[in-house]
Amino acid sequence: MYEVYAVRYAHHDRRARDNFLGLQPGDDPHDAPMPLDYFVWAIVGENETIIVDTGFGPQQAKVRGRQLLRAPIEGLKAIGVDPSAVKNVIITHMHYDHAGGCDAFPNARFHLQDSEMAFCTGRAMCDHTHSHALSVDDVTGMVRRVFAGRVQFHAGDSELEPGISLHRIGGHTAGLQSVRVMTRNGPLVLASDAIHLYAHLERGRAYPIVYNLGEMLKGHDTLRHLAGPQGRIIPGHDPLVSLRFPAAKPGLENVVLRLDI
Ligand SMILES: [Zn+2]
Ligand SMILES: [Zn+2]
Repeated sequence: MYEVYAVRYAHHDRRARDNFLGLQPGDDPHDAPMPLDYFVWAIVGENETIIVDTGFGPQQAKVRGRQLLRAPIEGLKAIGVDPSAVKNVIITHMHYDHAGGCDAFPNARFHLQDSEMAFCTGRAMCDHTHSHALSVDDVTGMVRRVFAGRVQFHAGDSELEPGISLHRIGGHTAGLQSVRVMTRNGPLVLASDAIHLYAHLERGRAYPIVYNLGEMLKGHDTLRHLAGPQGRIIPGHDPLVSLRFPAAKPGLENVVLRLDI
């Protein structure tokens, strides 16, 4: 049984039309504000803390015009995580906002899907459409970790520890993986960017950054299946997470959220 935390580390003000692929009947023609928040996650067990994604730093925030609220590891330290003691980091996918802080975990092994590594080092990166959401420095850094024996590859579904499993969803990128964690309140699914917002799942909609649209939409069913009847699914970028879940402890409101209660 694990505790699960979300660290909110960045914010981006944008419009609703930037968050959905295609306009459909019922979409708000006024194109209301619909910001994104950015998170990394911590799975805290009795013996080990596993980190899910590593966020980005000041350089990418500047290049891409994102508001960096804090270094992701500052949020993790606030709940007692020592980055140098972390042994396992799950990278859901190689986008800059998920794989840009790996150097903060000098003693960790990184868990990645085969298909994501092939995607971020292969022909898809010849197209700006696919490459613009990645940083070549993050990708070369991961290649170096492969050569250093610090990457553990996964293909499809696998169990990392009893009660923690990885599930390739694809869609958004070729090898995006979501994470299912057993908690005392049942399974919790960290979807990462399999859904950016609750609205994508609720309305059956796609986010505009997409490698395989069919896989992205089919991924919604996979998330529901993984979550079971309680349906506890955490989207990758929804500001509603800060409203729906309590602070990890007093003083961390809007900074670190406790997701398993
Ligand atoms: Zn992404
Ligand atoms: Zn993302």
